[in-house]
Amino acid sequence: MKYCKKCVMPDTRPGIVFDEEGVCSACRSYERRKTIDWDERWKEFEALCDKYRGSNGDGPDCAIAVSGGKDSHYQVHLLKDVMHMNPILFSVEDNFPMTKAGVHNLKNISEEFGCTIISIKPNIKAQKKLMRYMFEKYGKPTWYIDRLIYTYPLLMASKYNTPFLIYGENVSYEYGGQDAKESYSAKEQLKNGVASDIDEQELIKEAGVTVQDLFFTRAPRPEELDNLDPVYISYFQEWNSFRNYEYAKKHGFHDLTHEWDRTHHVENFDQIDSRAYLVHSWLKYPKFGHASATDYAARMVRYGMINRDEAKTLVKEHDHALDPECVRDFCDFCGYSETEFWNIIDSLYNRDLFEKNCFGKWELKNPVWAE
Ligand SMILES: [Zn+2]
Repeated sequence: MKYCKKCVMPDTRPGIVFDEEGVCSACRSYERRKTIDWDERWKEFEALCDKYRGSNGDGPDCAIAVSGGKDSHYQVHLLKDVMHMNPILFSVEDNFPMTKAGVHNLKNISEEFGCTIISIKPNIKAQKKLMRYMFEKYGKPTWYIDRLIYTYPLLMASKYNTPFLIYGENVSYEYGGQDAKESYSAKEQLKNGVASDIDEQELIKEAGVTVQDLFFTRAPRPEELDNLDPVYISYFQEWNSFRNYEYAKKHGFHDLTHEWDRTHHVENFDQIDSRAYLVHSWLKYPKFGHASATDYAARMVRYGMINRDEAKTLVKEHDHALDPECVRDFCDFCGYSETEFWNIIDSLYNRDLFEKNCFGKWELKNPVWAE
């Protein structure tokens, strides 16, 4: 395991590339921002908005895929207040118990900006079967929900005649991933590895779901996708999670202050809607040796908020420490005992990256703080 010389990202992150100087592709794309003509890109965005504004009579003229989070707040503000569009919001509400902040934030976005939200509440029976199967086989328990987060807005944009569909950031491009070339179009998003295609026959046979259960997880056919114009805002305007957070707070967004201090996160404002969902993102740790603390510490170094040594300390203290509240909610929902849960986790540890210490606890062979 090698670490980026500038941030703390390891080369085990799927899709990340290191150059000959030992610097990761996420740091390099951040540096490249300085050379981009942002005025020119903003004009491209204005031209797109001009093209679609009012294009659907008094119905919505664009759609935004929202979670209710800080980035959603910022995107709705941009489209509705700055660009004077008439957005409809599409949201996937997973079935886990929500945090107080999560409940408040989705409501707040509708009340603060005056927008209609159309939400899907996924099939709970299918979700449970798919979560158990995808967790045990691939270490990707929330695949079904993540898949819907990609497919549902596309499906609804076709249905409501709102081809101009807005997403926030191009995760692969900004942080290193499989689809790392930059373009404003979000058409290729399904290929970025977060919720890749899984063979339907495998899910029917092995997870016990029906072909009907999988209807909403299907990507639009290429000819349907051709009629849509999904875009990433991060192409048109410099994207910054911390700026979006500051903006959202001033408009009623709640973070987790006084509610929950998560042991494996280094901030309290990202992915805060539910506890069980976070098990999935934490599973990067046993599989690839880094999780949310590394992601955010690396970002904070790039933004000049902390130095690399401070980032190493954050990673050391937090990355391994999956929050027990996440485990409890996850086990309750899926029907696991905590013993069963930890046995599955044990099977997912990558033996090339980890070894057990004398207490039987998995430890990284080459942690960033020991380099
Ligand atoms: Zn880096």
